[in-house]
Amino acid sequence: EPGSPTNFIYDAVNADVAQGTRGGRVQTRFPPEPNGYLHIGHAKAIVVDFGVASDFGGRCVLRLDDTNPETEDTDFVDSILEDIRWLGYEPDEERYASDYFEQLYTWAEQLIDAGLAYVDDQDGEAISAGRGGFGKPGVNSPFRDRAAAENLDLFRRMRAGEFAEGSRVLRAKIDMAHENMQLRDPIMYRIRHAHHHRTGDRWPIYPTYDWAHGQSDAIEGTTHSICTLEFESHRPLYDWFLDKLDVKDAPRQYEFARLELTYTVTSKRRLAKLVADGVMEGWDDARMPTLRGLKRRGYPAAAIRSFCREVGTTRTNSRQSVEYLESYVRRELNATAQRRMAVLHPLKLRLTNWPTDENGEPVVEHFELTNNPERAKDGTRKVAFSGELWIEADDFREVPPPKYFRLSPGREVRLRGAYFVTATEAVKDEHGNIIEVLATYDPATKGGNAPDGRRVKSTMHWVSAAHSEDATVALYERLFTAEAPGERTGEALDDLNPASRELLSDAKVERALGDAAPGEVVQFERLGYFAADLDSPMLFHRTVGLRDEWAS
Ligand code: ATP
Ligand code: MG
Ligand code: MG
Repeated sequence: EPGSPTNFIYDAVNADVAQGTRGGRVQTRFPPEPNGYLHIGHAKAIVVDFGVASDFGGRCVLRLDDTNPETEDTDFVDSILEDIRWLGYEPDEERYASDYFEQLYTWAEQLIDAGLAYVDDQDGEAISAGRGGFGKPGVNSPFRDRAAAENLDLFRRMRAGEFAEGSRVLRAKIDMAHENMQLRDPIMYRIRHAHHHRTGDRWPIYPTYDWAHGQSDAIEGTTHSICTLEFESHRPLYDWFLDKLDVKDAPRQYEFARLELTYTVTSKRRLAKLVADGVMEGWDDARMPTLRGLKRRGYPAAAIRSFCREVGTTRTNSRQSVEYLESYVRRELNATAQRRMAVLHPLKLRLTNWPTDENGEPVVEHFELTNNPERAKDGTRKVAFSGELWIEADDFREVPPPKYFRLSPGREVRLRGAYFVTATEAVKDEHGNIIEVLATYDPATKGGNAPDGRRVKSTMHWVSAAHSEDATVALYERLFTAEAPGERTGEALDDLNPASRELLSDAKVERALGDAAPGEVVQFERLGYFAADLDSPMLFHRTVGLRDEWAS
């Protein structure tokens, strides 16, 4: 894969390594909260976190940031690790913020001893009212000047489980008039009598993100703590804690802009709602921007990695076009996907001059078709051809409109890799619907070329009726109809496309597709790239169409 990107994070790490800062070591971490499945936005963070570590010969730790017991689950932990591996990365170590609860608690007592933290008996409403606002200083809590001994006693009793949820918190004692709201005595601990998926019922108090994050980074020996821009205003607090705890070689936080895509939502909460409401079949529905959804849809991990790397890492929020991501998918699949023939809306084509054998059965011929013109080593496959074929209903018109060059009565076309055929008649049912097209073939054009050099204007895909398999094909439109879902009403789900999937249940595909491995992606000639479903045989999802719609 291509060399190191150049961006402000790489510049900073380069400088640190050159100056021997923090021992010249490089260690990053990817810190998901195990409360949902990873999505394309997380892929960006993974590529940055793991990429920086590997490009500098350092390490990347997977840290499960499990400090919110109510919403977290071990199933999510397992899925996160699987998805990271699917994306092509292997954590150097797997850690849990909950393993640091004891150390965090000890450090909190240390801050209390130093007069830098206090127990506040105000309720949530009073605390938030007391914080003030922009240009409006907060007011000190009436409990702010408690003596260290009293704070320590109360904090120990919080830990012992003596108090009700919401009755007290531990706050850092910084500055209620600070221009940065994050520094107005931020909360470090809340009381929650909740069962934690790893620590069980041991802790009735849980650390906040701000208190847990930097300290967890320090415990693990993180050197560069890379996160998204919304944490920029938290950085002074991140540094404040590490400074007051006198941590040596303290980690530093760097922020970059979140990855957002047009027509896509990457909020776990909204994605969860789509699943809960039954709009999606699951977190791994092929329309979901989760890594599981993208995998089912047939997006190669390598394409996602390249896209995330090459889309750039900046400090400016913007929405990338989803067509740009698709162009990476298409480029990767063009190189790797084998070609197959499939007919989505089948119409019977009968060759009236096709020969029969000595038993009166239609002759069966086999053509050697190239599996991938981009990759010779993929070789060829034998595809059966006979006198009854399936063609795309759309590829025949009884009365061809202007510029329609496909099959119509009297018109000759090429059946890809097989023969030239000329339509003679459309057979109809009593309602006037075309049920079959009759045609003749020219035996001299075997292989798809005329010895007399005559040309046809169109080449069509086909499947021999007696040698086809039935399949279901899922076609997709964007899951959201707006480029920036939610921009109009404030609620992204208002822009949900009610017709994002079309299931075609009578597709006919060439026999080789019966052997497609779960998840294998092939190109259906003329139709796009399609992924064999991971669970249901003979179900194919259209990954992307063939035409590149991306324009820079
Ligand atoms: P969500 O908003 O979907 O709930 P999150 O930020 O709460 O996501 P975490 O599990 O806390 O999810 O995220 C783990 C890491 O992934 C964090 O470092 C976070 O900054 C990063 N991340 C999440 N979403 C994106 C995104 N869209 N682009 C880049 N990084 C992201
Ligand atoms: Mg989070
Ligand atoms: Mg979030």
